[in-house]
Amino acid sequence: MHFGNMKLVILLVSLAVVARAEWSYSGASGPDFWALEYPACSKARQSPVQIMHEEAIADDDLNSFRFHGYDDIQTLDNLTVWNDGYTVTVRVHGDLAIEGGGLEGMYALQHFHFHWGSTDRFGSEHFLDGEAYPLEMHLVHKTVRHRKIAAALEDPKGLAVLGVFAKIGRPHPYFQAIIDNLRLLDIGDYANVRPFPMSELLPGNRETYYRYNGSLTTPPCSESVVWTVFREPIEISEEQIEQVRMLSKISNVTDNYRPIQSLNGRRIFVRNQPATSVYGAKESINNPSGDAALPLASLFLILAPLVAAVLKFNYTCMDGRWFLTCSKGLAVLGVFAKIGRPHPYFQAIIDNLRLLDIGDYANVRPFPMSELLPGNRETYYRYNGSLTTPPCSESVVWTVFREPIEISEEQIEQVRMLSKISNVTDNYRPIQSLNGRRIFVRNQPATSVYGAKESINNPSGDAALPLASLFLILAPLVAAVLKY
Ligand SMILES: [Zn+2]
Repeated sequence: MHFGNMKLVILLVSLAVVARAEWSYSGASGPDFWALEYPACSKARQSPVQIMHEEAIADDDLNSFRFHGYDDIQTLDNLTVWNDGYTVTVRVHGDLAIEGGGLEGMYALQHFHFHWGSTDRFGSEHFLDGEAYPLEMHLVHKTVRHRKIAAALEDPKGLAVLGVFAKIGRPHPYFQAIIDNLRLLDIGDYANVRPFPMSELLPGNRETYYRYNGSLTTPPCSESVVWTVFREPIEISEEQIEQVRMLSKISNVTDNYRPIQSLNGRRIFVRNQPATSVYGAKESINNPSGDAALPLASLFLILAPLVAAVLKFNYTCMDGRWFLTCSKGLAVLGVFAKIGRPHPYFQAIIDNLRLLDIGDYANVRPFPMSELLPGNRETYYRYNGSLTTPPCSESVVWTVFREPIEISEEQIEQVRMLSKISNVTDNYRPIQSLNGRRIFVRNQPATSVYGAKESINNPSGDAALPLASLFLILAPLVAAVLKY
């Protein structure tokens, strides 16, 4: 992290003591030489560090964060973006604070800023399982126990910084608000930012995060930071990060990330998401992306016959006549689709739709079924239910994945075209009462078949997975059926 205010303090002090060398990210004033002027930079609890998920220790004391003021619209006067010559800093003047999250007491938001690379391969300061992200945001909070920054910098828990990775994906409307004026900002310049709630800059999942004790990542490298690094990245577009990189044209700010530092025996802790969290099962099902504004379409894959074909189980249930009368005769996976990037394999399915009259069929270009599943198959909801169409047989073990897949607006329009041919539209049943049923959620363990490692490296699930993987994913489901 970079502490903007500190530089002012240093400058004032330096007038009275001795002129201090400017630091930079390369050459003779680069990170290898920071300690010459700022001795703390060579101490033993420095940041950033490499985070290895498999080695992180699950800690039950790490609970949910409580974000105060983060959902309020920040008014124009409250957000100013500033080019300080090292990074883009956004000053926040307001009563925003965090609590919980295993922190001792309340920490008030001071500012936030970014670290990025000249290419997509590097840019974040923290590494996750050997990989960097193109950009990392640091939200710097100061404990309310100290009124003055100087005191907080002397306290090993004086600051709480939230680190948020950004990966390349869809454009981020609120990130855009910040970078809109960047090209106009010379060093020392600042501009107002269009108002938005700060929570919009956080990842949807704030329940899974890493924790360790570290330092500022820029001189004076004070060892006063309780670090939180969220596992889920936010998305920004290639065009947006290019806008950030344009800053190098103005003020030579680029590749402004410090190399990772040794842990020197420090442990990194990870929060295990509990079954009952602020992101309750019901809410997540209704709103899996955490963004109420996104239109949702449901796409349901009925995979039970596939599972039955692979694993021999209770034939009395799977017999064509009987399985609908078994309470666990079917296992249905529900996959939400939200509007986003076009989905190449969904396209294969809908390509011929416009030619299909009622009763017609068409062949689909072959592809691995796993391509239709979300990248994260570790977080899902489970309840016992029914077919959602007549005869409404109560024979379904329902699984609803929390992470949606993405299809484009054009693609869903192609699906809707079916209404022109056969009057199929709005083909969803209204939600039914739970009548006392409970919805269960899977806890993602640190080590699973789809370990966190893979999920972290491949959070978007873009990589093609072999068909066999599908059955591994279905194993718990099959086990549930077999139990019957
Ligand atoms: Zn930083």
